[in-house]
Amino acid sequence: MPVAPSPLHVMAGVLRRHDGQVLITERPAGKHLGGCWEFPGGKLDPGEAPRDGLARELHEELGIRLVAAEPMLALPWRYDSKELLLDTWLVVAWQGAPQSLEQQALEWVMPADLAPERLAPADREILRHLLGS
Ligand code: C5P
Repeated sequence: MPVAPSPLHVMAGVLRRHDGQVLITERPAGKHLGGCWEFPGGKLDPGEAPRDGLARELHEELGIRLVAAEPMLALPWRYDSKELLLDTWLVVAWQGAPQSLEQQALEWVMPADLAPERLAPADREILRHLLGS
């Protein structure tokens, strides 16, 4: 009997500055959900610890070093045939200024000012969580 594949473990980081603004990035055209905005992150490598995977993704995409982060929301999600666990962490300290290392657009926004429909569907749940509703 075929074994159901386990969900893809995807890390997402909500970088929150002292002024309350959070960082969103635009998924490149041509990728899954290209043109949608998201909280930065990506797939965990096999055998990698979640915090290490988050730190690696944030370093690869934004050039920053993770300093302080805590798990915020573990969100099971399904995109067509793809099942994900979107393991979302709140990132409150990092070294370096986030840069666009993968040609992705970056934007700092107050969660309350962010229109949910700009985000990839799973990330709308993260926003809802941030807004406490
Ligand atoms: O970025 P990457 O393509 O590695 O992400 C893997 C999957 O996780 C994609 O389907 C992407 O849409 C999804 N994802 C998401 N929200 C994020 C990060 C990734 O829905 N914040």
